[in-house]
Amino acid sequence: MSAPDEELDIEAGRRLFTQECRFVAGAERSEALPPIGLPEIAFAGRSNVGKSSLVNALTGRTTLARVSHTPGRTQQLNFFDLGGRLVLVDMPGFGFARAAKRKIKDWSGLIERYLRGRPTLRRVCLLIDARHGAMAVDRGFMERMDAAAVSYQAVLTKSDKVKPAELQERIAALAAELAQHVAAHPDLIVTSAHAGTGIPELRAALAALAAPGQFD
Ligand code: GDP
Repeated sequence: MSAPDEELDIEAGRRLFTQECRFVAGAERSEALPPIGLPEIAFAGRSNVGKSSLVNALTGRTTLARVSHTPGRTQQLNFFDLGGRLVLVDMPGFGFARAAKRKIKDWSGLIERYLRGRPTLRRVCLLIDARHGAMAVDRGFMERMDAAAVSYQAVLTKSDKVKPAELQERIAALAAELAQHVAAHPDLIVTSAHAGTGIPELRAALAALAAPGQFD
């Protein structure tokens, strides 16, 4: 149930994502956040949700995921400039089985300050594994974004792993749940990084939030 095609400019999305995507900053503390500038889109989700794969599929590059998986950078907010029009922000995955309590506290503080203090943050893409649907940790994050009045959109990942009937049920359940959240975008986007499903649609949805390009 992605946004209706007539509202999405697939070609604009394709053009934007052919641009260079360059690592600009990593912030482990809020003091290290880069200055406010271009519109930003953040990607969040549980560890292993398929965030790196999705971002690779979007950008057609592995730079972003490589940086974000580098030990020491995995607990940072990593900022990437896409063609001087949009900044992609890779948020650390939730799920801290092995992280120390102290780290979790720092992480929560950083995320909270970023979510609340970033006027250029246009949308958070909340990635949810299509096999499991929303889990408690996702709901907690939704509530934090509602409280911070940060607009977010659910993006189902790994849809190739789920049978069509089950996928439809999962979409309906999630859409009903999102309708209860004030800051949630009503349309969710169904993707598979492996099959390429939903990638042009997600690119188009993000292009609509980017700063105008030279040819727009
Ligand atoms: P991250 O920890 O959220 O960055 O997740 P990764 O992108 O590293 O993916 C975690 C695992 O899920 C890997 O084994 C991927 O191969 C797998 N995966 C990611 N996206 C897809 C997808 O679209 N389809 C399938 N079948 N597997 C996927």
